[in-house]
Amino acid sequence: MSGSKARMAAISAIINQKIDVNPLNFSDVSADEIFGQNVFNTAVMKEKLPKSIFKSLMKTIDEKSSLNPEVADIVAVAMKDWAIARGATHYTHVFYPLTGLTAEKHDSFLAPDGAGGAISEFSGKTLIQGEPDASSFPNGGLRETFEARGYTLWDVTSPAYIMENANGTTLCIPTMFISWTGEALDKKTPVLRSMQALNAQAQRILKLFGVESDAFLSASAGPEQEYFLIDRNFYYARPDLLNADRSLFGAKPPKGQEFEDQYFGAIPSRVLSFMMEVERELFKLGIPVKTRHNEVAPAQYEIAPIYESANIASDHQQLVMVTLKAVAKKYGMECLMHEKPFAGINGSGKHLNWSFGNGVVGNLLDPGDTPHENLRFLLFCMAVVRAVHLHSGLLRASVASASNDHRLGANEAPPAILSVYLGEQLNDVFEQLKGGGAKSSKKASVIKLGVDTLPPIPKDAGDRNRTSPFAFTGNRFEFRAVGSSQSISGGLVVLNTIVAESIDFIATRLEKMVGKAPAKLNDAVIKVLSELAKEHEAIVFNGDGYSEAWHEEAAKRGLPNLKTSVDSIPELTKKQTVATFKKYNVLSAAELESRQNIYLEQYCKSINVEAKLMTKIGRTMIFPAAIRYQSELAKTCADLKAVGYKFDTNTLDKVTALVKELQDSLVALDKVMDGKKGASHLAEARYYLEKVMPAMNAVREVADELEGLVADDLWPLPTYQEMLFIK
Ligand code: ADP
Ligand code: MG
Repeated sequence: MSGSKARMAAISAIINQKIDVNPLNFSDVSADEIFGQNVFNTAVMKEKLPKSIFKSLMKTIDEKSSLNPEVADIVAVAMKDWAIARGATHYTHVFYPLTGLTAEKHDSFLAPDGAGGAISEFSGKTLIQGEPDASSFPNGGLRETFEARGYTLWDVTSPAYIMENANGTTLCIPTMFISWTGEALDKKTPVLRSMQALNAQAQRILKLFGVESDAFLSASAGPEQEYFLIDRNFYYARPDLLNADRSLFGAKPPKGQEFEDQYFGAIPSRVLSFMMEVERELFKLGIPVKTRHNEVAPAQYEIAPIYESANIASDHQQLVMVTLKAVAKKYGMECLMHEKPFAGINGSGKHLNWSFGNGVVGNLLDPGDTPHENLRFLLFCMAVVRAVHLHSGLLRASVASASNDHRLGANEAPPAILSVYLGEQLNDVFEQLKGGGAKSSKKASVIKLGVDTLPPIPKDAGDRNRTSPFAFTGNRFEFRAVGSSQSISGGLVVLNTIVAESIDFIATRLEKMVGKAPAKLNDAVIKVLSELAKEHEAIVFNGDGYSEAWHEEAAKRGLPNLKTSVDSIPELTKKQTVATFKKYNVLSAAELESRQNIYLEQYCKSINVEAKLMTKIGRTMIFPAAIRYQSELAKTCADLKAVGYKFDTNTLDKVTALVKELQDSLVALDKVMDGKKGASHLAEARYYLEKVMPAMNAVREVADELEGLVADDLWPLPTYQEMLFIK
């Protein structure tokens, strides 16, 4: 038997485990029967609310009109009765603090009735407003610690739902979270504000095209979530995974992903059972998950829903992450959401598919068959191109985190340089526009396969480009730089806001040019499109985003290459950002500054924890294993020498040298950790980036080399091979 005791115990536990699988029988209950069963959705509201109340509430939800407090009182009672009938004893305002996680504080419905008993109570006031203590949530300097008051405010547009637990259920109400002074302390508030900004500006373009309606133009989002699953026995034997969600040590396994046999491969049966239960739970919550598959790396998977209104998609995305984590445990696995849990193995992202439109006008980013004639589409598409060009640094900042830096900027998908991929057909139209006007659209051709049984197969007008961080994919843009552990709201807020600004710019220009003569519209649009195509051509790139040549070319084009979070987070408080966010009431200067502080602080904290873990594991697990092996080798060498045997001390010398290097590198890491880290958040973050990270890398390099030498039965940490391939 090889492998340390802890590792072998983990492996035998995996072999012998009996998983108490929750048998799912979709032949008894169909998926559509359970879909949304735990949601206080439109159908339930229609059934439970008086007609006039329902109408008023729907007006608020659909057209964003102000909520009538009397309506809230009636809704509260209906919501409570519905929840109690489904086993709820408590309710909670769910909110999304700037940690990127989900927060909840539960309260019981019970109130004393004055006669020694209790009644269930839930008023409109409690539905609309809660008051959790805000002092333990990051505020980035928005208030003093003693000013602890914070409010959670009902987001009427995101439906309430019930969370099940073996011991009962809880009514969950999605809310915003603000400070006593009215500043947003959360991720949701700016999403809602930015959606309003986008709606207001996009309506102006529609008006020019003669479309006027009260229907809200909503941003939509479809986030594809990648994640790793490893057995919990390994997870617990790995203090780095347990505390930092990524392995800080681990030599590259002999077999990695080079056979390219993982992507879309057969899903292991335990994983498939897990996925089915995740999906069932998400169906109950009305989350339309659709796609499941193996991802590129071993032990990596993906789940993707059908897109929804951005605000709801964002709330649902949080629930997807919570559910993946919770269900994995039931199946004896741990779900790792970190962007780079295993060095040298593909990392995880969360592709954010984004578009905007509504039921009246459809999807405004749908080009139709002949995009060159679809002026409305071209305007909106060009607005996106312009926005990304002018704010590419900010877009990069919206996905900045210590963990996501391991993907962006490293030699992996996608690059930190933001560019827009348009695809063949659209790029051709774009090129024509630069010359003054577009006359044709390349036709999607038909694939001829040489197999007679097949009908003609239409080919998409554009191929995919997996190396682009921001790609047009048929009827939406796909922002691929979002990290797998992140909330999608950061990207959504920036996209909605900068595109609102671009549309504002375009609408203002067109309104001036056209004046009261709508007949001039077409010529004016073509003129504006042609100007914009010329002005913003630098951001359009259809080639290989990973190549060296692109890095050079991008620099020539003046595109920022903000490799790290430390380089990009300050974009949040740049003059241009502050002006844009203020103009559209999405975030004030103070709110932006607080975010910058929080994200820099989080960056420092994550690396600080990792560095501490590293010294602990290095000293208490790896060093002891190494010296034990060293002493074994030394003894053998001495014994052999004593009997006059001629031998080579190569391995002993190597191990001895590495043991010394390990000690030295740990001391060096201690030293930088004890060093003065800088007076500002930014200076401190730079210190972690430039001083602490290299010291950590040095420790790792030595330790990983030792892993290849030390006797396997002494090696304390589960190896990459074990974690990634034993399923
Ligand atoms: P792929 O991996 O091929 O990019 P997936 O099917 O895994 O595609 O995911 C695509 C995501 O994009 C899904 O969540 C899908 O619902 C979403 N999506 C499709 N159309 C739109 C749209 N118009 N706006 C926003 N998201 C969209
Ligand atoms: Mg996908």
